[in-house]
Amino acid sequence: MIRLEGLTKRFGDTVVLDGIDLTIQPGERVAIIGPSGTGKSTLLRCINFLDRPDAGRIEIGDLSVDAARVSKAQVLALRRRTAFVFQNYALFANRTARQNITEALRTVQRRPRAEAEARADAILRETGLADKAGSFPAALSGGQQQRVGIGRAMALDADLMLLDEPTSALDPEWVGEVLDLLRRVAERRQTMLIVTHEMQFAREIADRVLFMEGGRIVEEGPPAQIFEAPRDPRTRAFLRRVS
Ligand code: ATP
Ligand code: MG
Repeated sequence: MIRLEGLTKRFGDTVVLDGIDLTIQPGERVAIIGPSGTGKSTLLRCINFLDRPDAGRIEIGDLSVDAARVSKAQVLALRRRTAFVFQNYALFANRTARQNITEALRTVQRRPRAEAEARADAILRETGLADKAGSFPAALSGGQQQRVGIGRAMALDADLMLLDEPTSALDPEWVGEVLDLLRRVAERRQTMLIVTHEMQFAREIADRVLFMEGGRIVEEGPPAQIFEAPRDPRTRAFLRRVS
């Protein structure tokens, strides 16, 4: 089980995460929606300490971290149990598709080289990128780059996959293939926390949708409830704007 308790983050005087409480069951796929600047990315980034939360507790399985008194070893442990998919792919430009995947397995998880390479090859086949294994990111389309980014996260077999608007930097022509791959990841019941503005996609793959505004979870529920019968006026106003 994954549990956040009172997760709080300030940038200067601005409270960006205002004591987030959230429990995610193994295999659960949770989508976060909400207006710009409400702390969605910050929430994801605080879970694995890409941003450092000021207070609160993060629990992933038997790992329990108090943000106010965290050790370096705990940060590494959190990173080992999570996998991040970035909006802008965040691939190493000077590494091939295959090396981008093996590198993550070797540095984050300390897997032996042969094992990391075998895993990378399996993932490249699964993501339909076997013929691009030796290509550098610059030689790949946006869709292919993001599929490598997702493949890298899949390879880690993490307790929690964190995805921050994985399709929003893509040219429209590449969105479909990336959503198809994400559907497959979701079908495997990978535990996911995904920020997305693809409402139809959220509706399709999420077990639960969270609406965030002002650093808080304003409303949450099954997709049908959030999209068809939102209770909070802020959720309604947001959905009217985006639909
Ligand atoms: P978007 O939908 O535009 O991606 P978001 O919900 O992901 O928005 P965040 O990126 O989490 O929003 O930002 C929340 C708030 O925190 C914003 O007001 C932003 O300006 C501020 N913020 C984020 N990162 C920093 C930073 N490194 N330094 C200062 N302020 C920041
Ligand atoms: Mg964001």
